[in-house]
Amino acid sequence: MVKSWKETILKEYPRLSPGSKFRFSCRKELSCFTQCCGDVNIFLSPYDVLRMKRALKLSSGKFLEKYTLPPFLADQKLPMVLLKMKDDARKSCPFVTPEGCSIYEDRPWSCRMYPLGMASSKTAQRADGEEFCFIVEEEFSCLGLKEGQEWTVEEWWKDQGIDIYNQKNEPYKELTLHKLLVEGKGLGPAKSQMLYLTLYDLDRFRKLIFESSFLSRFEIEDEVIKKIKKDDEALLDFGFDWLRFSLFAENTFKIKGEVAEEKKKELGLDSIE
Ligand code: SF4
Ligand code: SF4
Repeated sequence: MVKSWKETILKEYPRLSPGSKFRFSCRKELSCFTQCCGDVNIFLSPYDVLRMKRALKLSSGKFLEKYTLPPFLADQKLPMVLLKMKDDARKSCPFVTPEGCSIYEDRPWSCRMYPLGMASSKTAQRADGEEFCFIVEEEFSCLGLKEGQEWTVEEWWKDQGIDIYNQKNEPYKELTLHKLLVEGKGLGPAKSQMLYLTLYDLDRFRKLIFESSFLSRFEIEDEVIKKIKKDDEALLDFGFDWLRFSLFAENTFKIKGEVAEEKKKELGLDSIE
C-alpha cells in the first residue's frame, strides 16, 4: 500500500527538538529568491486569514473571494481553505514581488515556518501523540538551506514570530481533532458552512451576531459583546466557543432563560440547560 505523505514524515523524517540546529539564510542575492513563492499549496488557518485580511484592509468576504480557492472539498471532513495562486506560468503567489513578500509581517504560518514543517501523530484517541518539527524537502532548489546562519528550532520560531500563530491556531487544532468529528462522517454541508462562516468569514459572523436574534437568545456578558463588536481576535475566540456549543453540544454558551423556557415547552421537558 502507498504511504501517505503524513505516514512518510512520521516514519522516515528526522525529528528536530527545540534545541536542534540547522543552517538557513534567505537573501535577495540568492538566485532562487522568490522561486518558492509559487505553485505551492498554502493552507490558511482562521488566524492566517484574520492577519492577512487585516493587513490588506479588506473585509473577510472580499479577502476569501479574491485570494482563496473555494473551500468545500468533497473528501474533507472540514472545509480546507487554500491560498489561490495566480494564473501565470509560475503559478505565483498573489503577494510575491521582485522585492519579496508584500505581506511579510502578516504572511501565513507555513511561510513563517519554512524551512521547517511540523508533523503530529495526535488524534482524538491519542491526545499524547508525538509532535515534532522537520526540515521540509522541496522540489525547488532552496539555496538558503545550503549555507547561512545557524539556528536552533527555538531561535527560528522566535525570530519568525511563530509562537503567537501557534497559540492562536491551538483552538482550531483542537477542533479538528474533536472525537465527534474524527470518528464521525464529517460535518455535512450545513455545519461545514457554519464553521467556515464562523472562523473564516469573521465580518459576516459579526453581522450575524449583531443583526439577528443571536444576542437575545444567549446569555453573553456586556464586556464580551463590546469586545467582539470591534476586535477580530476576540471574535475568533468567541467563534471557537460558539462552535463547541453548536457542533458538539458543549457547555460553552448559555441559552437565555425565556428562550430556554420556550424550548422546554416546545420539547415537553422539565428543564433545559
Ligand atoms: S528558495 Fe529558499 S533561499 Fe530561495 S527564496 Fe525561497 S526560501 Fe529563500
Ligand atoms: S505569502 Fe508571502 S511568503 Fe508566502 S508564498 Fe506568498 S509571497 Fe511567499
